[in-house]
Amino acid sequence: MSLLQQIPFLWQKDLWDKLTSEFREGKLAHAYLISGAQGIGKELFAYGLAKFILCSAPEKLSACGLCANCNYGGDGEGGHPDTIALTIDEGSRDIKIEQVRSMSGFLEKTSHAGRAKVAIIANAHRMNTGAANALLKTLEEPTENTYLLLSTHLPGSLPATIRSRCHKVSMQIPDQKIAIDWLSLHIPDQEDPVALARSAQNRPLYGLELSHTDGLKNQQQFLSKLVQLSAGETSIQATVALAKKIGEQVVVRYLIQVSTILVKYLLTNQQPSELESGHQELLSMFQAGKEVSISLPLSLMRYYDQVQESHRQLLSSTNPNPQLIMESLLWRWSQLSRSIPTR
Ligand SMILES: [Zn+2]
Repeated sequence: MSLLQQIPFLWQKDLWDKLTSEFREGKLAHAYLISGAQGIGKELFAYGLAKFILCSAPEKLSACGLCANCNYGGDGEGGHPDTIALTIDEGSRDIKIEQVRSMSGFLEKTSHAGRAKVAIIANAHRMNTGAANALLKTLEEPTENTYLLLSTHLPGSLPATIRSRCHKVSMQIPDQKIAIDWLSLHIPDQEDPVALARSAQNRPLYGLELSHTDGLKNQQQFLSKLVQLSAGETSIQATVALAKKIGEQVVVRYLIQVSTILVKYLLTNQQPSELESGHQELLSMFQAGKEVSISLPLSLMRYYDQVQESHRQLLSSTNPNPQLIMESLLWRWSQLSRSIPTR
C-alpha cells in the first residue's frame, strides 16, 4: 500500500476527522493552512484530503478508493485533473508568481469531474513575495467549490495577510511509541526503528527519509564531529568539509535540531528520556556549563536564531555561499562551546 493510501496516519486522525466531517457538513473553508513539524506527512495529508474531496462515493471517513476519481493517475497523487499541486521547480529556490497565476487560472475553470477543485501548496513559506501577493487575490475572491490546502513548517514566515485569510490547523508530532510502531512497519527489518525515531525526534516520515538516505549514519557522524569540535579535538575546516560532504542544507537542519534540544532542555531543566547519543553528549556538556554560566541558554537562543537565519539564506534565491555560511556557523559554535569553562 502506498503512503498516500494510508492517509490518515494514526497521529493525523483527529485532524482528519475534523476536516472530513466539516466537508460532509458543507462547512469546509475555502483555504487551510496546515502547520506542523517537518517529516510528519503534512503534504501527503493534503493529497489524501484532496482525494477525499474529489471522491464520488466517499465513505464516512475515507475516499472509496474504487471510483474513477479515486483512481486517476494510479495513486491519484497530483494525477487527478481537478487537483493542482505547486512545488518548487527543479533548480529553483522558491515558488514563483507564474506558478500561482497558473494555479488561479486552473481554479477558475470548470471542474473536470463536475465536483470540486483542489490546489495544494506544500512548503508554502517558500513562495516569494510576488507569488504570495498573487495568492492573496485568489484568497480574497474565492471561486465556488474550490479548496486551497497550504502546508508549512514555518507558518511565521508567511505574510500575515495570507495567514489571516486561511483557516489555521496544526498537525502534531506523534508520541514516541506511535513513531516507533509506524517506522517498524515501513523500514527494512535489519534497521532499528527505535534509533531512527530517536534521531528523527519522533517525526515518522523524517525517520523514513533517514532510513532511505544513510541519513542516520550521516547525522551520527556529524554529531560526533560537533562534540569533537567543542572539545577542541578537530578543526572548523574539517567540520566544514564533512558538512559539504553531507550537504550544507541537511547539516543546517541538524544544527537547528541540536540547538532546539539544547535550548529546550536548558530552559526547562528537564532531562529528556530518550536521546541520540550524540545529542546526549552535547546536552551533558552544556548542562555542566550552565551551572557556571547563567548566560549560556541565552547564547544558545541567539545561536538558534543564527542557524534559522542561515537556513533561510541557504534556501533563498540570492546565491548563498554554503561554505561561508557553514564556516561562520561552526566558528560561532566553537566559540559558544568554548565559553563553557568545564571543558
Ligand atoms: Zn472514490
